[in-house]
Amino acid sequence: MKNEHKIKKLDKKVINQIAAGEVVERPASVVKELVENSIDAGATQITIELIDGGKTQIKVIDNGIGLGKDQLDLVFERHATSKIKEFDDLEITSTLGFRGEALASISSISEIEFASKTADDSSGYSIDEKGEIKPAAIPQGTQVTVSNLFFNTPARAKFLKTDQTEYKKCLATIEAHALAHPEIGFTLYHKQKQVFDYPPTNKEGRVTQVLGADFASKLLPVFFGGNELTIEGFIGKPELAKDRAYNQYLLINGRAINAPYFVHAIKNAYGSTIFPSEKPPFVLWITINPSDVDMNVHPRKEEARFHFQSMVYNKLLHSIKHVLNENVLTPKVNFAPKDVKSFIPSQSNFSAQSPKPLQRDSVAMFTPPSFDRSKRSLTEPLSEMQKEAIETKLRPIAQISNSYIVCQGEEGLVIVDQHAAHERVMYEKLKEYARSKSPKSQQLLVPIQLDLSNSDLETITQAKPVLTSIGFDIQEFGGQTILLSAVPDKFSQNEIEDVFRGLIEDLKDGHDFSNLEKIEDIVINYASCRGAIKFGQPLTHEEMVGLIKEMEEIKGREYSCPHGRPTMIELSFDDLEKEFKRRK
Ligand code: ADP
Ligand code: MG
Repeated sequence: MKNEHKIKKLDKKVINQIAAGEVVERPASVVKELVENSIDAGATQITIELIDGGKTQIKVIDNGIGLGKDQLDLVFERHATSKIKEFDDLEITSTLGFRGEALASISSISEIEFASKTADDSSGYSIDEKGEIKPAAIPQGTQVTVSNLFFNTPARAKFLKTDQTEYKKCLATIEAHALAHPEIGFTLYHKQKQVFDYPPTNKEGRVTQVLGADFASKLLPVFFGGNELTIEGFIGKPELAKDRAYNQYLLINGRAINAPYFVHAIKNAYGSTIFPSEKPPFVLWITINPSDVDMNVHPRKEEARFHFQSMVYNKLLHSIKHVLNENVLTPKVNFAPKDVKSFIPSQSNFSAQSPKPLQRDSVAMFTPPSFDRSKRSLTEPLSEMQKEAIETKLRPIAQISNSYIVCQGEEGLVIVDQHAAHERVMYEKLKEYARSKSPKSQQLLVPIQLDLSNSDLETITQAKPVLTSIGFDIQEFGGQTILLSAVPDKFSQNEIEDVFRGLIEDLKDGHDFSNLEKIEDIVINYASCRGAIKFGQPLTHEEMVGLIKEMEEIKGREYSCPHGRPTMIELSFDDLEKEFKRRK
């Protein structure tokens, strides 16, 4: 056999397909490149139409300057760009594209039609991936249609997720661009249905359109103007911080950028107003001189290198700290007085131990007890007959530090972590509801109206069967509004919105909604954690008894919370005797 070990030059198409491996990861990457080209073309309106999450088709229509017929044959050429001429231009360019490789890459792994018309030309023309040029009856601007992505690279097509997941990634990309450019109108269609239509507006208006009016109303404005740098935008009040990063947008020179170092600065500015594990949401537009940013470090330009990193860090840190200080925010950790109250059950004690009025800013952590509201009110003592009905092996004696229930058990002293224990109880109940398909819900006299972002709406639509199975009744109200007309009976009305929004956040982010069991687990875990009585929440004696009773009912699973932490610890009478040297 002849030795085939020879170096050959790859043909153009193969080169482009290889490059496409870096630039085009999934439909969302195509959306990103096309939308950026439209922005660079000075469009004031960009319309995106997706079919099957962009896998079948992506169409981006703009009203920008367009491209003349004589330029069309260069559009799919690699390294053909109208945006820079020399390497040094990179230093000063303010366009989003500059490598001239996106359309070349995309055209090598899809069927594409690029149609365009300039103001000077009387009619438009299109070119396809085979290079064929035809007249196109379109208004001024550009319309790019990308069909059957990866049709000729099946190995890559295999890595695509479900339509729904790909759609969500496209949506996230479009939302980030819409936030980066409030001055441009954005309209999105998926499967021929309009998802949104955002007219041109200002920064605040765009945040409201994309993230919803309720969310926008809980933001604080930030402004820093300097020579080298301006910072403008909004940060979430500490109460909006969550354990999961969400709605974190750093829009640097017109692009959404992943910049963990700057995100760290922002989080740092919050100091002790949020828990260490929590992450604040923010939408910040940062403008830096283009020569101080190197955008040429990532194939999809998702990251950047900054010349004055620590300067930007410090400016971010201080301007946000300043805003938070100005807006005098009570720290979130605001435990009720930690005095130990003993609960010798006597009638006169009951009302004295009802919870103190809560401070507004601590609501996220200390909502009024939601525990077993259905059966009795907090201040109402148990009747003698009810008391008799409750017989538990563990006898609660006192609550200490508003957090632990000290009990006498059959074999010793038992200390129960009230939050962990109730979390387990709620978890078991919600699971049971979901399994039995007979949720215990409370009808709300006045439905709760929630204004949501589009990605929230999408998440809810997907998770609806599970949410319904545990007692939510969700109705679409039109636009970005939904109505909650029934909610699981374990939640009180004043906390339900908070719980519901938290739930959406937990559900978002890459979950495959075909896996209902996983969704169910997220929902139930979240709902039980939020519905459970809090650590630091005063309890009446009968509430303690009620909790212990419910724990005993879930026999076998009462010893740990759903996260695996213990719910109780025991000090046996034997050990007590040893400790007091009564015996050896
Ligand atoms: P780059 O954006 O890096 O220049 P692309 O491959 O994305 O490279 O685009 C190649 C060229 O095609 C651009 O430089 C631009 O001249 C032209 N072009 C692409 N999209 C549009 C559009 N929507 N409107 C006008 N011209 C466009
Ligand atoms: Mg481009």
